[in-house]
Amino acid sequence: MGLMRMNCPYCGIEMKKGMITGDRRGKVRWENDGEKLNPIEKIFTEKGCIEAYYGFDKFYIAGYYCDNCKKIIIDAKLK
Ligand SMILES: [Zn+2]
Repeated sequence: MGLMRMNCPYCGIEMKKGMITGDRRGKVRWENDGEKLNPIEKIFTEKGCIEAYYGFDKFYIAGYYCDNCKKIIIDAKLK
């Protein structure tokens, strides 16, 4: 998770480094509009999964937050 400084592409101020985190019951996925995964795909594939670090009880996805624009930027690395 070697992140560097990042300036917001919208407003230009320096973004806050941090993490999206939650419990580890499910994978974190990206789904394109109109391309919902079926339940089988959700259980047996990693399609659309965002690369996350899984700790003992949580997952972590490193990223940046702009307090001004309320936007988060993550390095998604979709599978
Ligand atoms: Zn901004």
